[in-house]
Amino acid sequence: MNTEELVHHQRTFYYTESTKPFSFRKEQLTNLRNMIAENEEAIIGALYKDLHKSEFESYTTEIGFLYSEITSTIKNLKDWMKPQKVKTPLTHAGSKSYLYKEPYGVTLIIAPWNYPFQLALAPVIGALAGGNTVILKPSELTPETSILLKKMVSKWFDASIFTVVEGDAEVSQELLEQRFDLIFFTGSVPVGKIVMEKASQHLTPVLLELGGKSPTIVDEDANLDLAAKRIAWGKYTNAGQTCIAPDYLYVHRSVKPELMSKLKAAIKDLYGEDPLYNEEYSHIVNRRHYERLCNYLHDGELLTGGEHDADLNAIEPTILDHISWDDSIMQEEIFGPILPVLTFDQLDEVIDEVRNHEKPLALYYFSKNEQKQEEILEKLSFGGGCINDTLFHVANPHLPFGGVGQSGVGTYHGKASFDAFTHSKGIVKQTTKFDLSIRYPGRKHGLKLI
Ligand code: NAD
Repeated sequence: MNTEELVHHQRTFYYTESTKPFSFRKEQLTNLRNMIAENEEAIIGALYKDLHKSEFESYTTEIGFLYSEITSTIKNLKDWMKPQKVKTPLTHAGSKSYLYKEPYGVTLIIAPWNYPFQLALAPVIGALAGGNTVILKPSELTPETSILLKKMVSKWFDASIFTVVEGDAEVSQELLEQRFDLIFFTGSVPVGKIVMEKASQHLTPVLLELGGKSPTIVDEDANLDLAAKRIAWGKYTNAGQTCIAPDYLYVHRSVKPELMSKLKAAIKDLYGEDPLYNEEYSHIVNRRHYERLCNYLHDGELLTGGEHDADLNAIEPTILDHISWDDSIMQEEIFGPILPVLTFDQLDEVIDEVRNHEKPLALYYFSKNEQKQEEILEKLSFGGGCINDTLFHVANPHLPFGGVGQSGVGTYHGKASFDAFTHSKGIVKQTTKFDLSIRYPGRKHGLKLI
């Protein structure tokens, strides 16, 4: 089947109404869980080959995440699917009002390579729970995971419900020529713009989960021990190839020396003396990205790390000091294990600087002062984030996850995924027992019993 036939095949199936009952949706989600369970070892193997991802990271950030999303979705799905009764104003006397959650229909999901398993399947959970059919295109940069996804999805799902189309940007573009009912894209800002433009041809709604430079700010009154541990963990997990990783660090001048030495200690504690050869430490996805990142090593002054191995595409957890906004590392999202450090004296400087740039996907602020915490939350716009931690907001299914401005459009995770993949159809159910003449022009006011 070519892509046009595939979309047609799914749309024909969608109009059989089979995807709509709760029992069908639950069965698909259960299949998804069983598919993952059957392939756990192979998934961990593919992630190791693609990214040198450790078993621990593969389980916590990819497989485990999906299990908990599927379990809580199955648990709540019946409630989410029910038409939701809403208030009705007096002008509508006699009627009742509802929100009906209807599936969009045939959906396209385009995934990136950095969490190639989790970021491919997490939106699929929302799509199937919402009663849609799905065509998934994984990233070509993580071929082992892509091949495995294709193999296991073809075994567990009929192509009319959920199928994988492998390929690169060209295949992606070909898919985008088709008329979908919803497109969910995770990836870079430039490609997000292409997706939105293509979707506009058919006025297809899009969700865009993009990236950007996520600031991490450490103020003078922060708990530096915890800040160092949590920043090192957030930055160097998956070798910094995380959309919500701290991109750069802004530290108050008065605590900078102490924070730097604690960060160095935290890195050693996480990955030992020789991180390049530590089995717990991920590698860079390919040579192109490895070389792109190595170029940043010339910026500022090397504080720690900097060693790299071209045979492995690996770069040590690195900190660069004396960085300014003019340096090349500050011009785009880093997406690697290099942390540039900027210094501030007044929080206002940071607020101005962050406002001067695109709205980030995440922001992390470390301080014990609740007033300053609220000031940051009120004055700065960003997708989501943490006070006194990094990354943790992404793992709370009760928090919708997504960007704002250039970091994305729309949110998902937990109920937000179900909402993302369903249209809320507003319905008035009117009485036929009486009719209010006030609504008609030139009539006497009053009530007419029928
Ligand atoms: P990417 O935009 O290069 O690729 C993403 C997907 O788009 C891939 O499947 C790719 O094949 C496809 N693609 C690439 N070029 C295309 C084109 N010209 N036309 C149509 N499709 C095309 O992104 P990436 O390098 O895979 O991922 C890294 C980016 O993704 C970073 O910016 C990161 O911040 C972002 N990201 C965001 C999230 C999030 O949840 N917000 C999660 C992970 C990654």
